[in-house]
Formats: sequence, C-alpha cells, structure tokens
Amino acid sequence: MRQEESNIAYFQEQLLGWYLVNGRIFPWRKPGLSKYKLIIAEVLLQRTKAETISKYYDGFLLKFPSWHSLVDAGPERIGDYLKPIGLYQQRSKRLYALAVEMVKRNGILPKDRSSLDEIPFLGQYIANAIELLIFEKRSPLLDVNMARVLERYFGERKMADIRYDPYLQDLAYKIADTEFSKEINWGILDFAALICKARKPLCEICLLKKQCLFFSQLPVMTTP
Ligand code: SF4
Repeated sequence: MRQEESNIAYFQEQLLGWYLVNGRIFPWRKPGLSKYKLIIAEVLLQRTKAETISKYYDGFLLKFPSWHSLVDAGPERIGDYLKPIGLYQQRSKRLYALAVEMVKRNGILPKDRSSLDEIPFLGQYIANAIELLIFEKRSPLLDVNMARVLERYFGERKMADIRYDPYLQDLAYKIADTEFSKEINWGILDFAALICKARKPLCEICLLKKQCLFFSQLPVMTTP
C-alpha cells in the first residue's frame, strides 16, 4: 500500500488544483446554508447522482422547509415527493425518522463524535458530512465514489464494507486533513464523476496517471 506523506500531499495538491478549474456548482455548495439544508442535501445525495438531486433540491426545500414540516408531512407524503429520484421508500422513512429525532433535539447537533454517532438514522457518511460542513472539521465524505478514486490511486481496501475498513478510513482522513478540507472532498467527488468514473475511467487524460497505481497496472498497448 502506498500511502507515503509525499504521495498524499501530491494527490491533494493535484486534486485541489483540478477542483478550482473543474469543480461543479450545486445549490448545496453555496455558502451560508442552514444546517437543515446541508443535511437534507447529503441525505438525498446518498446513492444518487448529484445532477439528479440538483433538479429536485430547491423544490424539496420549498415543499419541506424544516424538520417540523417533514414530521407534519409523514413518510408517505415525503415519499410521494421523492418518487422521481428513486429509492423513495427507503429515503422517506429515513428522512422522517431523522426529522422526528431532530425535532426532539430542537435541531441541536452534538459536536462530539460519539454523541453524533448515537443519533439514529444518521449513519457514518452523514455524520462525517455534518462534521465537515457544519462543524468545519477535517472529515472525509467517504462513499463508494471517493473510495473508488482512493483505491485506484493508492491501492485496494481489504474489507467489503467501506465503513469498517481501517486502511481506507485512515487514508480518507489523511486526504481530508488539509485547510481546504471541503474543497478536497468536493474535488474528489467531482473527479470521480467526471474523470475517474466507475466504468471506463478517463486515464489517458488524467492528471494523476503518473502516480496512479491502477494506471501503472494497465496492460501496455503495443502497435502490431
Ligand atoms: S489514472 Fe485512471 S484510475 Fe488513476 S486516478 Fe486517473 S482516472 Fe482514476
């Protein structure tokens, strides 16, 4: 596994530079959003393309402007609204349960990670997003897309579940450990969507290819 500090620094530098030029613009990346709006975006974004969510995000917030409005609506009405973006049953149950919990807590989130982890229906990814986007901590938005980029570049994880793989978790935290933590996270997610795609990554035009483990293992094309 190649995790040398210099390689991590090189990866961060390249991705931050790439993000400055190529980063995507989404409504949930605007500065000054409320905690509610930030959390809703992250819940909707799980397992769904950001472009799809961007078409529904503002409308969702108009329809359901607060945790209270989600509680009042109930899972069925939330689900009806979410039908076009898929996974609506699962997502609406989760959003409703989270809303009930947040209303119970008067919208207050604990800063301490172990208390955050105790909030039901949050999960590791959303807890990381809360730390990064609300508490400005250096946490990784580690999902399958970030995992794919990190594993291709640095080497594969051992465990099937991203949440419990110590190598990948440690690596993701090291990558997020920069004063531009938000930008490196968004940069990796954008890079995963546009360059290091799940199928047919665009290795030939990739700025990381010289140091990328996956690229170094590709068969060399020879002319007959
Ligand atoms: S060279 Fe290919 S596999 Fe490696 S980071 Fe770039 S796009 Fe991804």
